[in-house]
Amino acid sequence: MGQVGGIDVLVRSSWLIVAVLISVLIAPAIEQVAPGLGAWTYVAGGAFAVLLYLSVLLHEISHALMARRYGLPVRSITLHFLGGVTEIDGEPDTPGREFGVSVVGPLTSVAIGLVFLLLLPVTPSGLLELAVEMLATANLIVGVLNLVPGLPLDGGRVLRAGVWKATGDPHRATIVAGWGGRVAAVAALGYPLGRELVTGQPTLISDYVLALVIAAFLWSGATAAIVSAKVRRRLPVLAARQLARRALQVPGDQPLSEAVRRAQEERAGSILVLGQDGRPTAVVSEAAVLATPDERRPWIPVSSVARTLQPGLFLAADLVGEPLIRAMQRTPASEYLLLEPDGTVYGVLVTEDVDRAFARAA
Ligand SMILES: [Zn+2]
Repeated sequence: MGQVGGIDVLVRSSWLIVAVLISVLIAPAIEQVAPGLGAWTYVAGGAFAVLLYLSVLLHEISHALMARRYGLPVRSITLHFLGGVTEIDGEPDTPGREFGVSVVGPLTSVAIGLVFLLLLPVTPSGLLELAVEMLATANLIVGVLNLVPGLPLDGGRVLRAGVWKATGDPHRATIVAGWGGRVAAVAALGYPLGRELVTGQPTLISDYVLALVIAAFLWSGATAAIVSAKVRRRLPVLAARQLARRALQVPGDQPLSEAVRRAQEERAGSILVLGQDGRPTAVVSEAAVLATPDERRPWIPVSSVARTLQPGLFLAADLVGEPLIRAMQRTPASEYLLLEPDGTVYGVLVTEDVDRAFARAA
C-alpha cells in the first residue's frame, strides 16, 4: 500500500472482505443518523472501515517506532482481517525493552479511544458523531483486549517481560505467556455461552462463529510460541567446540583407503583435504565414504568424496546456541570447518552430531 517512515505497509486481501462486512454491518446505524443516503450509505460504511484500520495502523506504527528506538530493524507492517502485525527483525534483548515494545501498542489504542471519547460531547450529531463514537469504542476495545495477558496478544508479551524479569529465563517466560494465550482462547470460546447463561438472552450463531475464529487464532498463536520456546530452550547446550571432531589433514591425491586408515589410527573423526598451499580446501563427506565399497577405496583419491569448502562452510569454533544454528542454516551442509579466531583449523563440525546432541537435550 505504501511506506511509513521507510517501513512497508502491506494490506492483505482478507482485509477487503472484512471492510465490506463492516460497511454492511454498520449500514443500519448510518441509515438511522443519516437517512436517505441510498448507495452512499455503503460508501460511508467503507469510509468507517478505513478509519478503523487507520487506527489499527497507528497501533502498529507505535510498536514499530519503539522497536526502532531500541535498534531493532522493522521490516513491515501488515494489516489483515483481525488487525495488524509488525514484522520486527530479532527480539528485544532485555525484559524492559520487551515490555516497552509490546505495551506501547495497547496504550496507543487506549489513548486514541480516549481522545475520541473526549471529542464526543462537542461533536455535532449525525454521521460525524457516529464515526467518533465508533472510533472511541473500537480503539478502547482493541487497546483493552490486547492487554489480555496471553500470547500472541500484546498483553502476552507484557506478561512474558514480567516473568522474564522475575525468573531471568526468557524461554520459560514465553511458555508461561503461551499458556496465558491458551486460557484466553478457551475463555473466548466459552464467552458467548457464558453470556447467554448469565443474561438469559439467546446468542446469535454469528457470535459463536466469531468466538471460534478468535479462539482458533489465539490457540494457534499461543501453541506456536510455546513450541518455539521449547526448541530454543534446548539450543544453548549446542556448542561448536564441544561437538567438533578432530580433523586429519591429507593431500587430495591420497587414496581414500589410506586416509581412512590414518584417520582411524589417529582417532580423527573427520578428514580435510589440503590444497597446494597447505590450507584445507575440501572436507570429506562421511556419507560419501560409507557409500564407497571397501574394495574400491584404494583406487579413488580422497578428494573425489570431499566437498569443496565454500565461504559458508567455514564457521567460528566459538559459536554456541542460536547463532550456531543460524550460521548452519545459512549454508546447509553435512560438514563444516571450524576455525579459531586466528584462522587455524580447530576441527570439523558434523551436522548429524549437532542433531544428535539436540535430540539428547530434549
Ligand atoms: Zn499490538
